[in-house]
Amino acid sequence: MPSPNVERVVIIGSGPAAWTAAVYAARASLDPVVYEGEVMGIEIPGGQLMLTTEIENFPGFPEAISGQDLMARMKEQAERYGTRVVPELIVEADLSASPIRLKSSTNPDIRAHSVIIATGASAKWIGLPNEMRLAQSGGGVSACAVCDAALPFFRNRVLAVVGGGDTAMEEALYTTKFASEVLVIHRRDTFRASKAMQQRVLGHPKIRVLWNTRVVDVLGDDAITGLRLEDTVTGEQREIAVGGLFVAIGHTPNTKFLGGQLETTEHGYLVTTPGRTATSIPGVYAAGDVMDDYFRQAITSAGTGCMAALEAERYLAHHGIGESPVLETAETAPPETVEA
Ligand code: FAD
Ligand code: NAP
Repeated sequence: MPSPNVERVVIIGSGPAAWTAAVYAARASLDPVVYEGEVMGIEIPGGQLMLTTEIENFPGFPEAISGQDLMARMKEQAERYGTRVVPELIVEADLSASPIRLKSSTNPDIRAHSVIIATGASAKWIGLPNEMRLAQSGGGVSACAVCDAALPFFRNRVLAVVGGGDTAMEEALYTTKFASEVLVIHRRDTFRASKAMQQRVLGHPKIRVLWNTRVVDVLGDDAITGLRLEDTVTGEQREIAVGGLFVAIGHTPNTKFLGGQLETTEHGYLVTTPGRTATSIPGVYAAGDVMDDYFRQAITSAGTGCMAALEAERYLAHHGIGESPVLETAETAPPETVEA
């Protein structure tokens, strides 16, 4: 039987996966609580879409919607059905305990019968010493053009964007509003971005692509003045002058707080049962970019958030927790016993 001191479902994260899981869990009367995280540099509650402009591919918004508006609406919908939201990070977890134990930034003793991990992913950096120094000092290096490119510092200058995925395309297109010229620097001779985004970049009069090129140093003392580049085919190096650098080379899944308790892929994504969101520990589910190294879209994150809540609901129902009837499926009931 459920204990009053133990949450039925704790959802960790605040992107499309977390809010969708919360809507489903709240409507299933599981009284979910969402730990939505805190502001840490460019990481903000609401997830990756807080850092972008228009979302054109989320169904239901034919005129497009801003990332911030979409996330505010998702949160509002989750709260409307009774989701409790805590503006804190989960910093530690003991997933094998029964009930599961979690620590937040201020609460060292959170207990839960089930947990949905929807902590998404964070921007990667190239890893150059001067890149990090100038990013931390506000010297013209950033991992978010949408957040920073409109600053006076970047206006009417040559700006560089590193990467060949959709994020780099989007960042390049966005910076054209402010830059005199945008250089997209990519280490190969083809982009991995979607065709639609590639076409917009390749057809833009302000954008020039430097193929087969990587950044080996960022130049400048207090502020960026240029880049040292290397041709990835010939190894030849040269320097170019730029007034800003936007790094858009992908993301790392946010799983550090789990301390390696769950099975991951070699790139750190949480492994789930194929076609499901169940992780290697019963009662623990993963949804969104933290478990998806292939699609990584808002709609697929929302989809797996829904799946995680339904799986948690079934798990709890099989253990006599929650008001939902046990949903009959072809699968056998989870074997583990939940202790209050
Ligand atoms: P995220 O959006 O990554 O959010 C997770 C959040 O959880 C974190 O930001 C943080 O606030 C919180 N969190 C992390 N760790 C903890 C913790 N320990 N405790 C508590 N909270 C924590 N997709 C589209 O479909 N269409 C687009 O147009 C599109 N544009 C994009 C533009 C950019 C610039 C980027 C970077 C991505 C874009 N994507 C787009 C991809 C989309 O943003 C992601 O697929 C989606 O946001 C992933 O959602 P998520 O729920 O997994 O988590
Ligand atoms: P991504 O698809 O993983 O692309 C990362 C890019 O950075 C790749 O081109 C990669 O090069 C390059 N790269 C990686 N490490 C590098 C390094 N150390 N130095 C130089 N270059 C490096 O990541 P993403 O662009 O952030 O996209 C992530 C997901 O979000 C995708 O699924 C994407 O579709 C989605 N998204 C969608 C939209 C949209 O629909 N509008 C917008 C943004 C993002 P290689 O190609 O050589 O590997």
